[in-house]
Amino acid sequence: MTTLFEPQAPTLVPVVGHTEMFPVRRVYCVGRNYAAHAREMGKDPDKEPPFFFMKPADGVVPGTGPLSVHYPPGTNNYQHEIELVIALSSGGRNIAVADATKHIYGYAVGLDMTRRDLQLAARDLGRPWDFGKSFDQSAPLGPIHPVSGIGHPSTGAVTLHVNDQLKQQGDLADLIWSIPEIVSFLSEYYTLAAGDLIFTGTPAGVGPVVAGDRLVGRVAGLADLDVTILPAL
Ligand code: MN
Repeated sequence: MTTLFEPQAPTLVPVVGHTEMFPVRRVYCVGRNYAAHAREMGKDPDKEPPFFFMKPADGVVPGTGPLSVHYPPGTNNYQHEIELVIALSSGGRNIAVADATKHIYGYAVGLDMTRRDLQLAARDLGRPWDFGKSFDQSAPLGPIHPVSGIGHPSTGAVTLHVNDQLKQQGDLADLIWSIPEIVSFLSEYYTLAAGDLIFTGTPAGVGPVVAGDRLVGRVAGLADLDVTILPAL
C-alpha cells in the first residue's frame, strides 16, 4: 500500500532517564479543575461533572530545556494555563477509579495556551471552544517523568512565572477532580489508549502574554517548563 503523500510523523515527547520517546496519540484537557480558577472565570466551583476539550496531537511542542512558540494568529488575548499532564501507557473503556493509575506511564508539565478572547466569545455564544483552545503550538510540554521515578503526585506546588514574576500558584491537593477520577470519567466517554495525554486543569492567575515574554512553569518534583513567546508568523 502506498500513500499519496508522506503521512505525518507522530509528535514525540522525551522521557526522563530513557532514550525511548513517548509518541502522542490524543490530547485531552480538563476544563475548570481548581476552585479558585473556576471563580476567576466567573463560574461556580461546585463539584459538577468534569468537562473536557481536545487539542491536536501536532499542537504539542515537546522538549527538554528551553522551548519557544509563536504568538498565534486571530487573537489579542493569548493566555497561559500551567498544568500537570498525565501520560498514558495503556487505556481502555470504563476504567474504575481504583484501577486508573495502572494506566499512567508518567507525568509532565504542560501549558494549555489559550486564545482567551476567542474561547470566551465561543463560550458565551454556546459554540465549540476549538478556536480558543485547539491551534498550532497550543501545548508546550516538558519531558515525561515515569511513574517508576516519581510515583503518582497528589500534592505539590504548581506555579507559573512570566519574566520572573509569579502569576499562577496552586497545589495539586486542590484539584477538584483527582487524577484517578479524571482518567476514570474520561474512559466512560472515550476508549483511552497508550500515547494519550490528559491536561488536568490550571490553578488561578491566568493572564495574557506577548512576544518576548518568558514563561517558566513548575510542578513540584518535575522538570521546569521554560517557554519563550516568539513574534507571530
Ligand atoms: Mn486548561
